[in-house]
Amino acid sequence: MPDISLPHISHLTAPDPSLAGSHLTIDLKALADNYRMLAQKTGSAECAAVIKADAYGTGLEPAAETLWQAGARTFFVAHPQEGAKARTLLPDAVIYVLNGLVGDDSKDGFDYYRAHQLRPVLGCREEVSLWQDYCANREEALPCAIHFDTGMNRLGLSFADAEALSTQWKTAKPAFALELIISHLVCADEPKHPKNLDQLEKFRAVRALFPDVKASLANSGGVFLGPDYHFDLCRPGIALYGGAVCEGEKSPMKVVATLKSRVLSMRDVPEGQSVSYGATETTKRNSRLAILCLGYADGYLRTASSSDLKKGAKVAINGHQAPIIGRVTMDLIIVDVTGIPQEQVKRGDWAEFFGSQIPVDDVAESAGTISYELLTSLGLRALRSYL
Ligand SMILES: *Cc1c(COP(=O)(O)O)cnc(C)c1O
Repeated sequence: MPDISLPHISHLTAPDPSLAGSHLTIDLKALADNYRMLAQKTGSAECAAVIKADAYGTGLEPAAETLWQAGARTFFVAHPQEGAKARTLLPDAVIYVLNGLVGDDSKDGFDYYRAHQLRPVLGCREEVSLWQDYCANREEALPCAIHFDTGMNRLGLSFADAEALSTQWKTAKPAFALELIISHLVCADEPKHPKNLDQLEKFRAVRALFPDVKASLANSGGVFLGPDYHFDLCRPGIALYGGAVCEGEKSPMKVVATLKSRVLSMRDVPEGQSVSYGATETTKRNSRLAILCLGYADGYLRTASSSDLKKGAKVAINGHQAPIIGRVTMDLIIVDVTGIPQEQVKRGDWAEFFGSQIPVDDVAESAGTISYELLTSLGLRALRSYL
């Protein structure tokens, strides 16, 4: 099994901060506060924490430890190796693997789940049979969850499968221990979408078939849809990391990730000159530009570029906002600082790409995507620090 080494580990020790062109700061106190805020909202339902994809780019290990200290006891990852990483830090946590039984369906693969005490979220009938056979052979009722589909058409067994299993288990108990049933909301970030109520009703019907098993439906958006959606356990991800929970609305959560880079140089460009690759944007006036030491190789998205036809994202420098001009390049981004007093933007100053001044959701929107993609794309080059 190949080891996944986490990028932030090397970045905690190197490089020399004085040489860093960009900084990614992860505020672990804000992460803990966000967890506590969500746990308060979920009330009597347990609030779990989703830490898949390197805890949404923030670093699985520091995030997992922080969330445990804040009170989280159940964690969700996507892949078994992510679960094993979390297990080394959290010997007593309950850890579910959302993607279910990932791998070549060998006994070794299943042994890996058992060795690290990972609970697969079984997502199709084959996986239910495989885990059943594995547990029957071992004569060991290993824990798992089952995912039922209520409208995503991605993972999850059908309602007919749910009925068949519940009937079957009335006469012959399964060889595994079914600890949780889950389903996943399709439009939780659009509270008025009719799909939410539809999925809620479908999930209630599934739940009625397994009355003794804990149930979980809500992701971050679902937590905010209200108590009907909470069941026994909620599974927020993006809200922990500061992302918005409702489409088009400002995030109610604290900022966790801040990305900054230095101003590398300043230049004056006359009106009518093109800027950056492809000559897609032209200065509309005599302009003052700042060249920033960060690009798409750092995980900032090239689709946040600006052109004469489409506005790009903005950055904040010393309290002023400045729009990107032209294309985002691999290592550098150019912003228009015309109109900002000269002494307030100079070589060596720091520009914020997202954080408390520029919401990560705004950048994602300018880039035609969502905060999830921006955070999980964060590269390995920015110097990471944890507050
Ligand atoms: C990623 C994921 C979550 C967390 O979703 P957020 O929208 O980030 O809160 C919950 N459940 C499942 C099945 C997921 O895949």
